[in-house]
Amino acid sequence: MEKIKMTTPLVEMDGDEMTRILWKMIKDELILPFVDLKSEYYDLGLPNRDKTADQVTIDSALATKKYGVAVKCATITPNVQRMSEYNLHQMWKSPNGTIRAMLDGTVFRTPITIPSIHPAVKFWKKPITIARHAYGDVYRDVEIQTTEPGVAKLVFEGVSGKREEMVIHEFKGTGVIEGMHNTDESIRSFAHACFQYALDVKQDLWFATKDTISKKYDGRFKAIFEEVFQEYKERFEAAGIEYFYTLIDDAVARVMRSEGGFIWACKNYDGDVMSDMVSTAFGSLAMMTSVLVSPDGKYEYEAAHGTVTRHYYKYLKGEETSTNPMATIFAWSGAFRKRGELDKLPDLVNYANQLEAACFDTLGEELVTKDLVNLMDGIAPRALTSLQFLREIRTNLEKRLGC
Ligand code: NAP
Ligand code: MG
Repeated sequence: MEKIKMTTPLVEMDGDEMTRILWKMIKDELILPFVDLKSEYYDLGLPNRDKTADQVTIDSALATKKYGVAVKCATITPNVQRMSEYNLHQMWKSPNGTIRAMLDGTVFRTPITIPSIHPAVKFWKKPITIARHAYGDVYRDVEIQTTEPGVAKLVFEGVSGKREEMVIHEFKGTGVIEGMHNTDESIRSFAHACFQYALDVKQDLWFATKDTISKKYDGRFKAIFEEVFQEYKERFEAAGIEYFYTLIDDAVARVMRSEGGFIWACKNYDGDVMSDMVSTAFGSLAMMTSVLVSPDGKYEYEAAHGTVTRHYYKYLKGEETSTNPMATIFAWSGAFRKRGELDKLPDLVNYANQLEAACFDTLGEELVTKDLVNLMDGIAPRALTSLQFLREIRTNLEKRLGC
């Protein structure tokens, strides 16, 4: 078979530990035999981030801005223990945080669903994608714990000299105060990313806040979404999808009773909490995909899980592990599909679709990685090592591509 051609490079961001091992296996077994891979490679493994004083992370984000599509392997976010383990010059910031800030992006997380893994919520038939606004609110708050009675005030001093002051509370005893903020610019970027992505995957977009209680703060989110939606309204109609706004408590009730198959845009805290709930209810972190979308339509695909450190230590001891490569494979297929669509390469889009289908074929043959065994109902799956599992997927992919 002639290898599938690409025209524009993918930005390839390599990573750490077990996922770095999987990364190479996936390329060797499922990509390089089929695709004439054009990629601009950035090694975001911790040793190279340290060696380049994290410049490589910045360069990879700039390349994503230039080319528009990236695929990223999981990476270590250093902590104190990693400082000594890797002999680091500095406790480098989270690469995901750096890339997200540079692209001004929103993260969309979607579970990979299969018939034998039943979501904990029995009504859910299709995946639910959570989009979390990743700026501000309680994550950028200031707090005071008072030690005596007194008055708490909210003060704004404008550059023009305009001053606004409101009493928050007159404390008779001790208590706590919290100040938080968001910016119109950030909310607007979030809204654009959500509407763009909904059009991209042709799914309804839900958004919810508590604007009946928080009339100005949450009200601002609602108003900006409504305003930005006007730019997308016609395209939504043409695509046959809807934008739906409701109150957060109503949204939670509706999500529970829904069949799934939509995008749920959440404010920062709601997204933090709801993404853990939704992903757990769908089954496994190893089956959760993630894509960062910028308001101007740049995409960075990855798995939602980390570098699977515990498996890596076993691997270093020479043990074969049964680490699940599904989310990382889907990061690649997502990136190839997007690249194929942008460059009008139907063969590349088809390859991405067949790659995902070959994964489902393999799971359908009851061949799985260890983490999935206990999640599957009504069948007796066989657990394979990562490499065996990838080779089974390869066999199915070869069948599908007729090689
Ligand atoms: P993790 O790597 O996601 O792993 C947590 C546990 O979940 C694993 O020990 C494993 O359970 C299970 N698991 C996760 N992915 C799996 C897979 N593909 N196949 C099978 N089991 C899987 O999270 P962590 O241990 O908290 O973090 C490890 C490192 O990853 C940290 O250095 C962190 O900074 C980094 N991290 C990176 C990203 C990112 O780059 N996006 C995200 C999160 C964390 P068992 O051990 O029980 O099998
Ligand atoms: Mg959380």
